[in-house]
Amino acid sequence: MRILVTGGAGFIGSEYVRRRLKSDPAARITVLDKLTYSGVEANVAPVADHRGYSFVRGDICDPEVVDQVMAGQDAVVHFAAESHVDRSIDGAAPFVRTNVMGTQVLLDAALRHGVGRFVHVSTDEVYGSISEGSWTETWPLAPNSPYSASKAGSDLLALAYHRTHGLDVVVTRCSNNYGPYQFPEKVIPLFITNLLEGKTVPLYGDGRHIRDWVHVSDHCRGIDLVLDAGGAGEVYHIGGGTELSNHKLTGLLLDALGAGWDRVEYMADRKGHDLRYSLDDSKIREHLGYAPQVSFTEGLTATVAWYRAHRSWWEPLKQRAALR
Ligand code: NAD
Repeated sequence: MRILVTGGAGFIGSEYVRRRLKSDPAARITVLDKLTYSGVEANVAPVADHRGYSFVRGDICDPEVVDQVMAGQDAVVHFAAESHVDRSIDGAAPFVRTNVMGTQVLLDAALRHGVGRFVHVSTDEVYGSISEGSWTETWPLAPNSPYSASKAGSDLLALAYHRTHGLDVVVTRCSNNYGPYQFPEKVIPLFITNLLEGKTVPLYGDGRHIRDWVHVSDHCRGIDLVLDAGGAGEVYHIGGGTELSNHKLTGLLLDALGAGWDRVEYMADRKGHDLRYSLDDSKIREHLGYAPQVSFTEGLTATVAWYRAHRSWWEPLKQRAALR
C-alpha cells in the first residue's frame, strides 16, 4: 500500500511511520512535513534507509506540493497539525491555517486523485469537557480552546467530504498520548526533562483536571486497524483506559524521578481549561478488535528511561523553543 503520512516527523506521526514500515516492509510511505518547531527529521531517521520510505519537506496548505505528493497514493494518514493548546491561546492563526485550511487542501487533492482512503487523526478535545460518564462517537462537538475548535473544524470537514463527495474518510478521536519522541512542551516530557535538569515543574491550578492516557504505540495500532478495516464515513475513538488527574500524574512522575513535591510550582490555571476528557472506545474494541497493549505503569517507566537516555534529542529542542 502507498501511504501519504502528513506530519510524519512529529511525535505520533513518526511513531506511525517507524511502526508501519517495521510491521509491513512492503508498504511505501511518503512523509509530507513542514518541519515546524515540533517536527524533527531525526524522529524518522531509523527508517531513512528503508526502500519504501521517502520524505518531502512541504506545507499541507500549499496546493502545488500537496498535488504532487498525492499522485499515486492509495491512502492518506493525516497527522499534520498545530497541536499545543497553550500556543493556540497565545495565537490562533497558525491553528486555523494548518488544521482547517491545510486539511481542506489535502481533502481536495485526495478527491482529485481518487485516493482510496483518508484517515483523519482527530482528538477527544473536540467534545469539550465531560464531568461524568464517557463520550460516544455520536456526541455533539463542543470544543473550548482555539486548538480543539480548529481540530473540530477539520474533523467535520473531513466527514463532510465523505457525505458530500463520497471520499472514503475515516476519523479517529484519541485521548492524550505519551511515549518517546514527544516534543518537550507537553506535560509528561516537560515534567520528566525539567526534573532531569533539576528544575521545578509547572502545575496548572490545583491539578484536578483529568485526562485519559494512551501509549503512542497503542494509538498507532488503532490507526492501522481503522486504516485497514474501518468503515467509510465512520468515527472511531481510541482510548487508553487510564484516567488520571494531573495531580496524580505529577505524583507518579515525581516518584519515578526521585523528586519531592517541593519541585512543583503551582501556576494560574490555563484559560478555558477543560476539566475532564473521557472516551467510550467500545466501538473500535468490538468492531476492529482494538485493545491497548501497554499498561500505563510499564509505558511511563519506559518513557522516563527513554528521556533519560536521549538528552541529546531533547536538550536542543528545549533550547530552540525557549522552554522553561
Ligand atoms: P506534533 O506537534 O508532535 O507533530 C505535528 C507535526 O506536523 C510536526 O512534524 C510538524 O512539523 C507538522 N506540521 C505542522 N504544520 C504543518 C504544515 N502546515 N504542513 C506540514 N506539516 C506540518 O503533534 P502530535 O502530538 O504528533 O499530534 C499529531 C496529530 O495527532 C495532530 O493532528 C493532533 O491533533 C492529533 N492528536 C494528538 C494527541 C496527543 O496527545 N499528542 C491526541 C489526540 C490527537
